[in-house]
Amino acid sequence: MNCLITGGAGFIGSHLAEELLGRGATVYAIDNLSTGSIANVEHLKAHPRFHYQVEDIFNEPVLAELIDRCDTIYHLAASVGVRLIVESPVRTIETNVAGTEIVLRHANKKKKKVVIASTSEVYGKSAQVPFREEDDLVLGPTKKGRWSYACSKAMDEFLALAYFKEKQLPVVIVRLFNTVGPRQTGRYGMVIPTFVKQGLLGHPITVFGDGKQSRCFAHVSDVVKGIADLGEHPRAVGEIFNLGNDEEVTIEELAGLVRTMTGGRSEIVYIPYSQAYEDGFEDMRRRVPDLSRVKGLIGYKPTQGVGEILESVIAYLKS
Ligand code: UDP
Repeated sequence: MNCLITGGAGFIGSHLAEELLGRGATVYAIDNLSTGSIANVEHLKAHPRFHYQVEDIFNEPVLAELIDRCDTIYHLAASVGVRLIVESPVRTIETNVAGTEIVLRHANKKKKKVVIASTSEVYGKSAQVPFREEDDLVLGPTKKGRWSYACSKAMDEFLALAYFKEKQLPVVIVRLFNTVGPRQTGRYGMVIPTFVKQGLLGHPITVFGDGKQSRCFAHVSDVVKGIADLGEHPRAVGEIFNLGNDEEVTIEELAGLVRTMTGGRSEIVYIPYSQAYEDGFEDMRRRVPDLSRVKGLIGYKPTQGVGEILESVIAYLKS
């Protein structure tokens, strides 16, 4: 099996590369290092079945050649992270919409399977938890920049499903819920690396809003197994899957856990959203996946809870 990972030097992409190599695949990774990092794949460089290219997916001749060589494309290259989205909306929208369009167009020429990494963000501020794949997407107004990310990813899903329906291109859509673990950076706003770094340094832990909003955090090692299983399963084609963990924790509880597990020196401070992001910023209160579909098809079961996740992130950031 030859696999291409776009965004292969990113946090999830690099873990997926390891997972696929472990399954005996030859892995080609392409990454423009905009948010990914060569350090994420440093340990894979010597692997005889790992090949990487520092290049943009917008370089179509390069992309076309890589697609030619591969059986399955895992399309992970995207602008992610709420901070990045609020601060660089043009980049987010262009990368996420046009990037996916290019990948699908070239994959379609050779009818290569494409696994699209989408996001739980597409459910928006829907209050109907847990979220099921067929639920309505509830997005806020276009004046609020945050929603451009959900919208760009929803567009990716529409386009992938359109290629499947109209051109019989095999596609699989995976909606990733909050995925965390070693190598994730807090630079683009992600909460767990941010809190752990604050806790280890004894700095204040910054809870945005009232801290009563909740998330479900999945360890990246569980998530990449799920992505690879879905990529290999014939009955996943043409479908959408939630993937993550369904153990819910409030951000306030998370801050408390991090504080204790990092030595208890940090105070917990509350920062209004308007100060953390921008005026009028809208957050979602609860985000919980219904995992029935992915459990039913591939027997997916997350193995690591929030305590184990925090331990692994603490160990990583300490090292
Ligand atoms: N958050 C926080 N403090 C931080 C970073 C994030 O309280 O320093 C909150 C954020 O407002 C959100 C949750 O943690 O409610 C998860 O944020 P993240 O950006 O990790 O993921 P999201 O689920 O928003 O995509």
